[in-house]
Amino acid sequence: MKKQRKCQGCKKIFDADLMHKITLESKSGKIFLNPDSKILGRSAYVCKDSQCIKTMLKKKALRGALKTNNVAEIEQELLRLTIEG
Ligand SMILES: [Zn+2]
Repeated sequence: MKKQRKCQGCKKIFDADLMHKITLESKSGKIFLNPDSKILGRSAYVCKDSQCIKTMLKKKALRGALKTNNVAEIEQELLRLTIEG
């Protein structure tokens, strides 16, 4: 059984493997893209789809999902992903 998670953009459920994993590291309090799940902490997921990332950023959904307001840097990083395609 594959791990399934809700996209913070479209709010649909997909295989976690197919999504960006974004993790608030418990130890450091910093937020990282976490493709290989090496970082431990509260995580949020979003489809690898520019539209989903943009929707998530527009709704400021990461704040709620990770329970932090310290999201400016990771939001910039995600925005860059949507520009690079
Ligand atoms: Zn999505």
